[in-house]
Amino acid sequence: MLLTDNISILKNIGQARAEQLGRLGIETIGDLLEFFPRDYLDRSQIEKIAGLHHGQMATVLVSRKGEAQTRNAGAKTITRIHFSDGTGRIAITWFNQPYMATNFKIDEKYYISGRVVWDAHGISLENVEWEKAGGKENLSAGRIVPVYRLTGSLSQKILRPLIKQAIDGAIEQIEEFLPPQIMTKQGLCSRAFAVCNIHFPNSAKDYFDARKRLVFDELFLMQAALVMAKGQLRYEMPQERMWNNMDITPLLAALPFDLTHDQGKVVGEILSDIDSGYALNRLLQGDVGSGKTAVAMIICYLAVKNGTQAAVMAPTETLAVQHFHAFVSIFEPFGTRCALLSGSLKASDKKMIKAGLEAGEIDIIIGTHALLQENVNFYNLGLVITDEQHRFGVRQRATLTEKGDVVPHTLVMTATPIPRSLAMVLYGDMDISAIRQLPPGRQIIDTYSVAKSYHQRIFAFIAKEIEKGHQAYVICPLIQKSEDDEGEATSKKAEISQVLAFAQELKNGVFVAYNVGILHGKMKPAEKNAVMEAFAKNDIQILVSTTVVEVGINVPNATVIMIENAERFGLSQLHQLRGRVGRSSIKSYCILVTDAKNEVTQKRMQAMTKTNDGFVLSELDLELRGPGEFFGTAQHGLPRMQLANLYKDTEILAAANLAAKTLQIDEHAPLQRKVEQLLGKIEQISL
Ligand code: ADP
Ligand code: MG
Repeated sequence: MLLTDNISILKNIGQARAEQLGRLGIETIGDLLEFFPRDYLDRSQIEKIAGLHHGQMATVLVSRKGEAQTRNAGAKTITRIHFSDGTGRIAITWFNQPYMATNFKIDEKYYISGRVVWDAHGISLENVEWEKAGGKENLSAGRIVPVYRLTGSLSQKILRPLIKQAIDGAIEQIEEFLPPQIMTKQGLCSRAFAVCNIHFPNSAKDYFDARKRLVFDELFLMQAALVMAKGQLRYEMPQERMWNNMDITPLLAALPFDLTHDQGKVVGEILSDIDSGYALNRLLQGDVGSGKTAVAMIICYLAVKNGTQAAVMAPTETLAVQHFHAFVSIFEPFGTRCALLSGSLKASDKKMIKAGLEAGEIDIIIGTHALLQENVNFYNLGLVITDEQHRFGVRQRATLTEKGDVVPHTLVMTATPIPRSLAMVLYGDMDISAIRQLPPGRQIIDTYSVAKSYHQRIFAFIAKEIEKGHQAYVICPLIQKSEDDEGEATSKKAEISQVLAFAQELKNGVFVAYNVGILHGKMKPAEKNAVMEAFAKNDIQILVSTTVVEVGINVPNATVIMIENAERFGLSQLHQLRGRVGRSSIKSYCILVTDAKNEVTQKRMQAMTKTNDGFVLSELDLELRGPGEFFGTAQHGLPRMQLANLYKDTEILAAANLAAKTLQIDEHAPLQRKVEQLLGKIEQISL
């Protein structure tokens, strides 16, 4: 039996069963071995019938007493059999399984597990699982018993022996891909032992050893693959590319504010990275509105002062334009040449900008994905800053980094704080800084959660804010239809027409006295920009939008955000959206509108009304989603973790992180192969 063999070579697998297993992602013997239990039952204790308690889950070792009785009750057949273990008798009833009557031989012993029921008729067991005792090794009783995810009519009783067959036939082929020094250092058992014992552990200790090894493997391989995907970890800067001029005072003087303590601290961390002789490779986490742009400007200033070009990549055109204006206003007095490269430029303008970049006539280029194109070349790229980087794929970021003749300094910025443990997995290769403080004078954004019946009151409130000269966002998410309802394109249209209808209603109704603008994902970039610019200038007072305003839009005069159908958003998205207001010293408000009553929604709304701290919310998000769902992996498109729990396995995570960063993977062929397999799966994901 080979790991690559199809499961159909196993005994007791027909086509129907193979299809069911296929639905669980199991096609080969190897897949079956790596299909780990989701839970366990402790059936290692065998109880005596005389000692059973009502309600208890118990396993007994019994033989049949007397003949089975089968009768019909309406459409049902009822089969009742008595069993005894010498200390007492139990009755077991099966519905619509008349074949049970001939299952139990009178001179054989059976393990039967189930819930104990005491009633007027005596003792019985409910929801039973049974297995013949003696002979073959028992898989469902007399031990710690694995419980697997199932589908269709597949049962634990069918799956366990299949997995056992695979273990017996192929466990020796499980490859040991970890180098021995790591196994010794971390105190890890062999992979084969681990796979065997995660299914059928002989003792609690064996189970814990097995789990530790497999969790380590999951976390280690993931991080090793990410390190590989992102390229070099620590790149030593050639002497002639070292930055010698580290004086940032002119730029600090040009900023319209003093840096906050946290901004200053982060700038310090970045400067010392750059000074270290290695390429900067840092992630900057900072809540919405915490002032990451100023940090970016400071580092760009140094890049230019030291004779290199800087590239700032933003995920949307709107954001790139906004950055461009902000940069121009700060850098113009220094004679620094800034340019904008985005998809919607005229071809001739693009051509001119590309030529300027290549000739070194542009110092700071700000742009979208357009920067990644093959025909974008730099004269001497020294710094790459990626804003809101979770929108970009791992490979995309690497692409920009590779555009220099040497590895440029790299700073990635995100306003989506993620829990520490997750950050370690996703950005294990980088140093991490955080701005936790907001600029002075910012007020807490008052947040309310209300039902749709409050619409009129909310509109009145918004109107009052506008009368004060402020502006408002109304977020109205697209209501997604299920995929098989309609083709994707048509349903997208339908969704957008809903937003449009809602916007029209507001425009011609309660807000008829004001200018209402509409923004949605299907608009052309130029149209979006026009609307955003009108909003920024207060030509539009109320912006009705799908979620496209989520990313980094800065209109400090906006003081209310109303989020319709708030249950459609996750906590971090809600927090992102809320960050569109509260961007000045004017008091701001966030109104979450939902009629959903389910517990998760309620908890999310509560969390939003209680705290403004994105880091606290991100930890809460992890908790609310539960360890099973492995926060962020679905969202980030990482392969699902089978066993690792980021909430609990923090020690193994730290060990795996260190190993992934320090081990020369290409010196260990089996490991390298394993990592490369994973790499194929993660290259497309976005981090
Ligand atoms: P984000 O971190 O979300 O990108 P921005 O860089 O857009 O935040 O900054 C948000 C707003 O705060 C901007 O209007 C910016 O000018 C202002 N700001 C940034 N730093 C400071 C500071 N130290 N003091 C006062 N205002 C600041
Ligand atoms: Mg920003």
